Amino acid sequence: MYDVVIIGAGTAGLSAAIYAKRAGKSVMVLEEAYYGGQIVNTPHVENYPGIKEISGFDFATGIYEQAVELGTEIVFAKAEEIRNTDTGKEILAGGVTYPCKSIILATGSKNRPLGLEHERELTGKGISYCATCDGAFFKGKTVAVFGGGNTAVADALYLSDTCETVYLIHRRNEFRAEKELQQRLSGRKNIVSLMEKRVTALFGNDSLTGIEIEDVVTGEKTELKTDGLFVAIGRMPDNYRFENVVELDKNGYIMAGEDCKTKTGGIFAAGDCRTKQVRQLTTAAADGAIAALAACEYVG
Ligand code: NAP
Repeated sequence: MYDVVIIGAGTAGLSAAIYAKRAGKSVMVLEEAYYGGQIVNTPHVENYPGIKEISGFDFATGIYEQAVELGTEIVFAKAEEIRNTDTGKEILAGGVTYPCKSIILATGSKNRPLGLEHERELTGKGISYCATCDGAFFKGKTVAVFGGGNTAVADALYLSDTCETVYLIHRRNEFRAEKELQQRLSGRKNIVSLMEKRVTALFGNDSLTGIEIEDVVTGEKTELKTDGLFVAIGRMPDNYRFENVVELDKNGYIMAGEDCKTKTGGIFAAGDCRTKQVRQLTTAAADGAIAALAACEYVG
């Protein structure tokens, strides 16, 4: 019977593990994919206090190693169900049932898909959701990035180092990304911003050859030849399997306040999966600490 089981090995989940271990609790982290969460896809982290610059992967590796060295047990399996029992709670993951006294949900979010025909078949064949993972395949080629947030602008900057031309496509006439990132765009001659446009179709059989772009003002549609399309149109939560124990808002985020407490005693929500205004590395780490200390208090 673990004192604390954390679902998700991103910044929030691993921060929670560090705090709970240092409080002397038995801790297990369940992770369905890879450690580190969303930050591993960010080429440069420059806004975490105390660290001037670090790659997302190095940041994630540091926090993972810190949690493991403290004695956190990490199991790579997808948590499928949570049940309340007479003695506590249990989590079903990968065909195994894990009994525990408290649970911290730190499930983060997943990439928002385009929702276009052929998207799935062409993923990995020209379409990517991670510039740092797949950018090297497009060296010297033409690529497009779709989105206007920090991820899209950072991806475009990253890809412009090695790609011939980078089209940055955004549906509005101004980017959502931080001004500091936006300012760097003007220094890159090979980044072409296509504003008030959206991607409406994907072309190619075995691999992506081009995309259809619609002008959102005039409705005019044109074809843009490109070898790659990096989709960076935000993220969405993935919590519906836990609806029996937590309340979700209309967008699927877990209802929990700044104390990270959900409607069920002993179940907490931390990081991007929680209803909140600001989703940053700093707020994910802060949530991890708050949720862990609350879980430790609950366990006693
Ligand atoms: P985001 O900030 O939510 O931005 C998503 C972008 O995609 C927005 O520009 C949005 O357009 C656009 N978009 C959303 N749905 C769309 C659709 N259906 N079709 C076309 N465009 C669509 O997402 P993100 O850039 O992935 O960032 C996620 C979080 O991580 C944010 O909190 C961000 O600050 C953080 N982050 C931080 C850094 C950093 O270095 N500080 C780096 C990466 C991510 P609109 O602008 O019109 O809404």
